[in-house]
Amino acid sequence: MMLTDEMEWDSPMYREAANQFENVAELMNLDDNVRERLIMPQRSLVVTFPYRTDEYSKVRTAFGYRVQHVLTMGPTKGGIRYAPDVNLGEVAALAMLMTWKCALVGLPFGGAKGGVRIDPHGLSRTELQRVTRRYTAEVINMIGPQKDIPAPDLGTDEQVMAWIMDTYSQNQGYAVPAVVTGKPPELGGSVARREATGRGIISLLPSAALRCGVGVDGARVVIQGFGNVGRYAAIAAAEVGCRVIAVEDLSGAIHNGQGLEVGRLARHVDLTGGVRGFSGADSISHDELFALECDVLIPAAVGSVITGENVHSIEAKLVLEGANNPTTLEADRVLKDKGVLVVPDILCNAGGVTVSYFEWVQDLQNYFWSENEIVSRLREIMIRAFEEVLDLSMRKKLDMRTAALMIGIQRVAGAKLVRGVYP
Ligand code: GLU
Repeated sequence: MMLTDEMEWDSPMYREAANQFENVAELMNLDDNVRERLIMPQRSLVVTFPYRTDEYSKVRTAFGYRVQHVLTMGPTKGGIRYAPDVNLGEVAALAMLMTWKCALVGLPFGGAKGGVRIDPHGLSRTELQRVTRRYTAEVINMIGPQKDIPAPDLGTDEQVMAWIMDTYSQNQGYAVPAVVTGKPPELGGSVARREATGRGIISLLPSAALRCGVGVDGARVVIQGFGNVGRYAAIAAAEVGCRVIAVEDLSGAIHNGQGLEVGRLARHVDLTGGVRGFSGADSISHDELFALECDVLIPAAVGSVITGENVHSIEAKLVLEGANNPTTLEADRVLKDKGVLVVPDILCNAGGVTVSYFEWVQDLQNYFWSENEIVSRLREIMIRAFEEVLDLSMRKKLDMRTAALMIGIQRVAGAKLVRGVYP
């Protein structure tokens, strides 16, 4: 079995996710039948659809995807990304990661992911709205509050979620807030959802820093990405007393060894659209950013940024993976040999889907929680998961990624075995 090149999802990223799963399944001695079921997504939809550009007579075609990896655990859950190179394999790999992530932090969901192959930065707001509504119409039979609940991911935001919610609701004939999470608060979005992934990452920083002898106060933090994740990680890091010395986004990378003024930087980004040109910082290159002498490196943007090429230049003692799949398997091995502690994506960035879960629960009950309740429950879940992973990694002498995957995979495998095979 396990011939990934014969599978429709074959792509470099899917292979990485499948190999990662295989390696851990082998270590766990996982049941062969379950192993075969889990390496492939259960449902995949590929669509092509037209959308009108702002020049009314001009119509373009886009590719859209939605993949549900495992339907065993409850509805499926996962974001939708808009990116010019997204493909079925990438979406399938990310759906698989969502399964392990939800199981690891104990959420009653299987993993899913969606994508539209467009460059969201190259579209006007009205074009983006038309793309979103038509994509929603294409996947409408697959999603729903009891079926599959999308959320933001790379290139999508609260506004995109609001359009999905509206399109779905128009088709039902009544408002259905629970069909997506990461919505604006006016539509039943949860307070603190926007900051959740970034906050969740930083909630793990003190325990992780302790493991590698780094003091939180004054710790030098480098963040790649200043969007849904990186921006709020930067704010939360500064709040706990770290020095955010460099950040990068699509506009460029900036550095100030004394620490950037994060609040002022966020305002600069709101005004100018990017970190570039921020006064009080020098501009540096992408390669220089990864090679900076620092304590904590937080990749919080796209996948595969820590690679065999740049991993040797990394000086950080701790890597907190805010993005999904930011480290290639090859680079992961090198980090391990270098003694760098890596808190893996499925644990480190689980704060986003955890507060998504809170949002879904609040929407279903029409009963909304206070910010304090949300933030403290998020912290509790993140720290409990961290400790479980740390405990297993120490008992079995494993790196944290392997331990996190083992816990997630074990829970899903256990559920599959007790449900049995139908008919
Ligand atoms: N896109 C985020 C992730 O990869 C959040 C998913 C969600 O909230 O459902 O974890």
